[in-house]
Amino acid sequence: AKEMKAGAVVFEPDEHVTTSSGLTVLGDLRRALEGGDELFLHYQPKYTLDGERIEGMEALLRWQHPTQGLIPPGDFIPAAEGTGIILRLTEHVLDLALAQLRLWLDAGRAVPVAVNLSTRCLLDAGLPDLVERLLTGHGVPAALLRLEVTESAVMGDAARCMEVLQRLHDLGVKLSIDDFGTGYSSMAYLRRLPVDELKIDRSFVLGMTTTAHDAVLVRTAIDLGHNLGLTVVAEGVEEQAHVTLLRELGCDVAQGYHFARPMGAEQMTELLVATGT
Ligand code: C2E
Ligand code: CA
Ligand code: CA
Ligand code: CA
Repeated sequence: AKEMKAGAVVFEPDEHVTTSSGLTVLGDLRRALEGGDELFLHYQPKYTLDGERIEGMEALLRWQHPTQGLIPPGDFIPAAEGTGIILRLTEHVLDLALAQLRLWLDAGRAVPVAVNLSTRCLLDAGLPDLVERLLTGHGVPAALLRLEVTESAVMGDAARCMEVLQRLHDLGVKLSIDDFGTGYSSMAYLRRLPVDELKIDRSFVLGMTTTAHDAVLVRTAIDLGHNLGLTVVAEGVEEQAHVTLLRELGCDVAQGYHFARPMGAEQMTELLVATGT
């Protein structure tokens, strides 16, 4: 188990969490974390809406299970989040992402990479040191790493999360609020967070060209983000109509199937080369 500072919440490890298919998720995940290449990352590019240049990418975890096949993150991350395994998983993801980023840097392609952080990690006072150690170890400038956190994560234990976020921010790492609109953050609260970017949840983006309510929400989120000096990203952009409306609303960046699906590192390298990124 990971060493934790006094006062940290200790979650009961549960070896018996299973998926509907009966897979013992946590036992298999532990094994996968010990080595091999079952766990790997896909990368999805984010595009500026004015020029459609690649301005960064998000790393998304994939698990190629030896007998169950490809397991989507939604099927094992929630189980890992209930235990200390999520900390090791996060370290592994950061390690993979930074190693890949180093390769892209060596090839002259300095493109920011975002990694998703679970709620649980923001409660770990050791996270900023871990991030710093990995950045140094891989020789990657902090400004090229982005960390995505959900608003609900931050609302859970505000004071503790705020301290961790502030220390990450002080390292020079960029922070994003993920799935914006699905939580309960107030404007006053958002203003106090040391974040640089706001990502509008894909459910609102998906509905915005057909549902007036969603369009209002997207517009409001964009204006709010801009008033707070944040870059605003729309996720789940699937159609040209989304792009057109988002552009009209002044959204800065878009990510979604309309542009590209998440892809392996090799394919991403080809895309970076082809687009001169
Ligand atoms: P998320 O952070 O909101 O990531 C975006 C999800 O939307 C990804 O699903 C991505 O493949 C999907 N997506 C991208 N564009 C589109 C689109 O145009 N339409 C639709 N319908 N979907 C789109 P994915 O890869 O299955 O990941 C699901 C969730 O799992 C992520 O949601 C994130 O919360 C979590 N996750 C993924 N990787 C990691 C990780 O390394 N660590 C942690 N803690 N969570 C992760
Ligand atoms: Ca995300
Ligand atoms: Ca998201
Ligand atoms: Ca989401």
